[in-house]
Amino acid sequence: MSSKAEIAIVGAGPAGLTLALALARRAMASGHDSSGGGIAVTVYDKQPSHFLAQRFDVDRSYTIDITGHGRKALEYVHATDVFDEALFEFKGLIYHHLPNVSFLPVNRIDAVTEESPGYTGSRGDICRALQQIIEEKFSGVVAFCWETGVSVESDDTGTLVEERTSGGRTVSTRSKAFDLIVGADGAGSVVRAAVERFDPTFYIQKRSTSKYCTMMELDKAETVGKELSPEWLQVFNVIPLSVAGAVGGGLGRGSARWFCQFGFTRDTIFSNVEEVKRHLRHCSPKLLDLVTDEEMEKFIERKCQHIGRSVSCNPLRSGRFVLLGDAACAFPPIGQGVNAAMESAMVLDQCIGRVWNSFTSGSEPATVVFCQALNDFDAEWRPSTDALVWLGDHLWSGNVMWMLCKGMFSSKLGLGVLSRSKDRTLSYYDVMTEAIAMEQRLRYTGWAVGALGVLGVGLTLRTLSPRQFLR
Ligand SMILES: Cc1cc2nc3c(=O)[nH]c(=O)nc-3n(C[C@H](O)[C@H](O)[C@H](O)COP(=O)(O)OP(=O)(O)OC[C@H]3O[C@@H](n4cnc5c(N)ncnc54)[C@H](O)[C@@H]3O)c2cc1C
Repeated sequence: MSSKAEIAIVGAGPAGLTLALALARRAMASGHDSSGGGIAVTVYDKQPSHFLAQRFDVDRSYTIDITGHGRKALEYVHATDVFDEALFEFKGLIYHHLPNVSFLPVNRIDAVTEESPGYTGSRGDICRALQQIIEEKFSGVVAFCWETGVSVESDDTGTLVEERTSGGRTVSTRSKAFDLIVGADGAGSVVRAAVERFDPTFYIQKRSTSKYCTMMELDKAETVGKELSPEWLQVFNVIPLSVAGAVGGGLGRGSARWFCQFGFTRDTIFSNVEEVKRHLRHCSPKLLDLVTDEEMEKFIERKCQHIGRSVSCNPLRSGRFVLLGDAACAFPPIGQGVNAAMESAMVLDQCIGRVWNSFTSGSEPATVVFCQALNDFDAEWRPSTDALVWLGDHLWSGNVMWMLCKGMFSSKLGLGVLSRSKDRTLSYYDVMTEAIAMEQRLRYTGWAVGALGVLGVGLTLRTLSPRQFLR
């Protein structure tokens, strides 16, 4: 191994790219030289560069809002200038006339504050912005290996097997050893699977709930739906969920393409356009004006995605391996996947920062120094992963109408779990403990109101004579 510490990041999604950027900044700031200040970071992804990938993949063009936690991570890596240019500003959620709950007095929820504004765009928009910064400023520290799938050959030596592909065919294979291996390879992580194989103390918990979704492009929104503002997520229905958002069109922020996510409680197939229209009429008749019949034809062909899976691990590290983002913890969408992925990268970099001086002084081997950082990361971030899985499981459970009323009213009062999880000053663990306490208070209040009602009815019946009662 060279005198530089070799760090592998498997996966160039939001988590992997944020960590690569944070490490590159740290290496450059430590005043060594422009070629890496003691570390060499290699980022692998089995997909092509984000700049070559298809810009609009309807299945993955769900709109992601970056708020409190994600914003904090972007400020940490000094990426907000580029995000200001590349993504839409995010303001909150607009509830359109919801057919089954039109009596509720809620039509808008502001989700950001002036001090901590947000962004909205697709996963691709976010990844392109991060990749651009790394390539422009830190190419001396970070090397990208695109179209290179990675697997773990040896846990002892930290050896990875890189398999480069082109047009779906393997063009080369080689092995390389690393001092630190970061699994940022998403919900189906191969790094996590390898750790599970070699570490008997490593424990993965998987759960699955009946949550599905299919994406549809609102292809008439730019012409007919001019009043839709890209700065707001548009909620057309809550149960079943249909929420649409804008992704920067071919001209970046200057134009928008709209994608709507339709939620289902089972794997749902539509057999013809009439069925789709019936569903849209039920969700929100307004949607019928925003989609052409051709897009509905494509919608019928599209696969319904299962989004109800959650995965959590304990611990988040083993030997020289550590897990970030969805690889460490995946959960059903609550608008926090990317935010949490980027924050986890920030926390890992902060933990590495605490041992940085011992690392650069060279007094101990890099693997020993990083080991301390990985322990700290596990202690600091695992409560958040446990909380995220809990929030993902509980947010959409229970009686439909109760859940709806509770969710909308509590959001309006600023107490909703969705709103609270967008607050950068609260950890996800705080949001979970608050939510548990609120559920308990609501349950006790419900019981107290029920008991008083029964008592009231009993007393009334006692005071009435049987004749009065019958009359
Ligand atoms: C339908 C749907 C809707 C969603 N909505 C939202 C939302 O509204 N808000 C939100 O914040 N989040 C949302 N999410 C979740 C969000 O997309 C993820 O949480 C986020 O992308 C996780 O980032 P990551 O970097 O951890 O992993 P990923 O984004 O999954 O990136 C992992 C990367 O690793 C690469 N990779 C995998 N295996 C290998 C390998 N063996 N070798 C090399 N590379 C590999 C993959 O190609 C990929 O690029 C949604 C997800 C889905 C499916």
